[in-house]
Amino acid sequence: MTRIGTVVEVIIDSPGLALDKPFSYYAPEHQTASVQAGQRVVVSFHHQHKAGIIWAVRPNEEITDNMKPLLDVVDEQPVLTREQLELAEWLCTRYVCTLNDALSAILPGAFRVKGKMTVRLGTSVDVPDDVLATPLWKYVADHSPSVKEVSAKFGRTGKAQLDAWLEHGFLVQHLAIQEEVKASVKNWIVAEKPSSALLAAAQNREKRARRQADLLRQLAESDRGEIEWSRRVYNKGTVAAVVSEGLASVDERPTSRLSWVEVPAAVAPVLTEGQSRVVSRIGMTLDAGKHQTYLLHGVTGSGKTEVYIRSIEATLQKGKSAIVLVPEIALTPQMVGRFYARFGERIAVLHSGLTMGERRDEWGRILRGEANIVIGARSAVFAPVTRLGLLIVDEEHEPSYKQEESPHYDARDVAIRRSETFGAVTLFGSATPSLQALHLVEQGQAQILMLPVRANKRPLPRVDVIDMRDELREGNKSLFSSRLADEIEATVSANQQVILFLNRRGYAASMLCRACGERIRCPHCDISLTVHRQGGQMSLRCHYCAYEEPYRANCPACKEPALRAFGIGTEQIEEALKEQWPHLRVLRMDVDTTRTKGSLQRIVEGFERREADVLIGTQMIAKGLDFPHVRLVGVIAADTMLSVPDYRANERTFQLLTQVAGRAGRAETDGVTIIQTYRPEHFAITASSRHDFQTFYQEERSQREVFRYPPFCEMAVFLASHEDERLARGAASRFERELRRASLPDDVAIIPASPSGIQRIEDKFRYQVVLKYQHWDSVRAVVDGAFRLVKLKMNQYGGACRLDVNAQRIG
Ligand code: ADP
Ligand code: ZN
Repeated sequence: MTRIGTVVEVIIDSPGLALDKPFSYYAPEHQTASVQAGQRVVVSFHHQHKAGIIWAVRPNEEITDNMKPLLDVVDEQPVLTREQLELAEWLCTRYVCTLNDALSAILPGAFRVKGKMTVRLGTSVDVPDDVLATPLWKYVADHSPSVKEVSAKFGRTGKAQLDAWLEHGFLVQHLAIQEEVKASVKNWIVAEKPSSALLAAAQNREKRARRQADLLRQLAESDRGEIEWSRRVYNKGTVAAVVSEGLASVDERPTSRLSWVEVPAAVAPVLTEGQSRVVSRIGMTLDAGKHQTYLLHGVTGSGKTEVYIRSIEATLQKGKSAIVLVPEIALTPQMVGRFYARFGERIAVLHSGLTMGERRDEWGRILRGEANIVIGARSAVFAPVTRLGLLIVDEEHEPSYKQEESPHYDARDVAIRRSETFGAVTLFGSATPSLQALHLVEQGQAQILMLPVRANKRPLPRVDVIDMRDELREGNKSLFSSRLADEIEATVSANQQVILFLNRRGYAASMLCRACGERIRCPHCDISLTVHRQGGQMSLRCHYCAYEEPYRANCPACKEPALRAFGIGTEQIEEALKEQWPHLRVLRMDVDTTRTKGSLQRIVEGFERREADVLIGTQMIAKGLDFPHVRLVGVIAADTMLSVPDYRANERTFQLLTQVAGRAGRAETDGVTIIQTYRPEHFAITASSRHDFQTFYQEERSQREVFRYPPFCEMAVFLASHEDERLARGAASRFERELRRASLPDDVAIIPASPSGIQRIEDKFRYQVVLKYQHWDSVRAVVDGAFRLVKLKMNQYGGACRLDVNAQRIG
């Protein structure tokens, strides 16, 4: 006999390829009207209780005999919007990932639920006294345990007893939903009668029920006839008494655990001519309500943030929401502060620094429409806004917008995709746009907007390039050229500040034996150990795994006392500064000094308050910080970035040099930037020293075109890793063979299976295959098929495979 009912497609929360499709369940009678796509559910799957997300609801369908019912629906309202579900599907085809991976990328981990089948006392059957007296009965009554827990505690006989009681109806099974984090709520007491009635009632109780009278009076005098219920002031009994007489009711309302950042409100500055031109252009597009991507190319200090703020105002006026992506929210406290100062509580923030609970509550505020401006790092691109009008990607050139694990999404791609869906404006901003973004402009897919001068009309800093080979020839072996040393002294004695930039943390890059040439490597990874110095104590650390060993002077290979540290790191600069200028106050900002919560903020604020003369830092300091008293920026060694084996090394060098130079002379005086290098003729260095974006761009563009690198193609990088080198190599070769067997378009290039840049990490060998193509659609099906095939097999062998589509780097 067939039945007609509501069929629900569910994506099961479980990693792996095997369950990568929706499974059909039916909605029990009482839930047919309320089930919606995007709700979290618990279902039974192969005798286990699994959490899942409703993918689709199909009413009036045939319910087959083998179909099982939904066990529970967790949410009244969906936690994912329909548009987000479609976005998940798009992520799967764009980046080759499972639906479950895509959904986990979108929905914060704080929403994870688990279903657990428990037993409880039944209510419909009289239970004999001898049963009531058993320890097992008492245990069930007290704990509502799972069957498993009963077996563990009372053994086989206990389990048999339990089954019998269930049979008799003494006990019933119950599905308990365990949420990782619950939404936080606050209770409000709401008046149900006019003030006069409340005051009269209060008078009545003045003698016999003092607290109730207080409550009624406070309620009568409140502005909106409601007060937040603080249990410290009114206990349950007091409130219940008032409620039971119909004078008030209790309303549970969601809130956010995230404590409010108090920032004094700021007034809007008068826009510069350039800014108003850009803002009105964006405003016209917002008015039209059609999708358009803009690239805002504005020099450092040109006032891009103010453009963002005005465009957001225009968006809100249309009743729409805005999302602002920043590379790393912890690195942009100043910018976030500026947004708070202008928009206050309408902002929600999403980033990895939040606790699970805070994240969950912020998500809720966005879903409910209480916050209509979302600021966050990469994953905030998925924020559950329902009327997106503007999506800003600040510092568009930053590599952190690409996720390095599955799904390997690029937030810039997702930004454009979502904006298209909503007919929203995408606004990329940068002082040093990526070649990728400029390519979009060349292709007509984006329009460029320029802010060529600083908002305060100050000139860009003068940049001088120092050839360090000359310094050596003149006998200067210190880390600082004589010019940089002079400028440091001049700047500090003029009571201004210095930033010293070096893109390498630690004390030194490696230890090398000058007798036998041995380099000290990590025993688990194919990489040199980095030298660190903490409180005078030297040690060697691997930056890829947790390995660490004590420093020693003798070479482990030839035993000669000839080990020497090579390659300067930030810790060494700090030491050298203190040696040469003992009175200098120095702060250091790199991964090692900013590990603990709040430490980064302390360094930024300390430097802002001029508690230090010099700030030493890695690329962290290049990201949008605005310190008005910095006169001098020194780049200790520009070469460290050029020598990285990455096709974007020139681009990264140019961007970092330009960005850090832009930290100089932003307010008071003209800035000076000094770049120290052994390759002063390199075009990335010469162009950035002249603020000559065009020359750099033309040169880099033509190199990429000749060697066929993005943006002139897209790359997909397959990587297999296994402790057994043969298996890793085998998987890569197999993937390559599968691709070659298929008939791919002529413009596709397959770079044969080969060891990846770092051949071994954490004892696992790594082999890769790189694919270059013009259109993802032309290779997608083949790549997807080959990847699934090889990955399934590799997982059986205990290895791992990954596929990075639209890869930004190789290996
Ligand atoms: P960018 O992000 O482009 O590097 P910012 O947005 O940080 O630049 O702005 C640089 C400085 O100029 C900030 O101190 C900002 O307050 C100031 N500024 C921006 N716009 C204006 C304006 N219209 N009038 C006066 N000052 C402005
Ligand atoms: Zn290691």
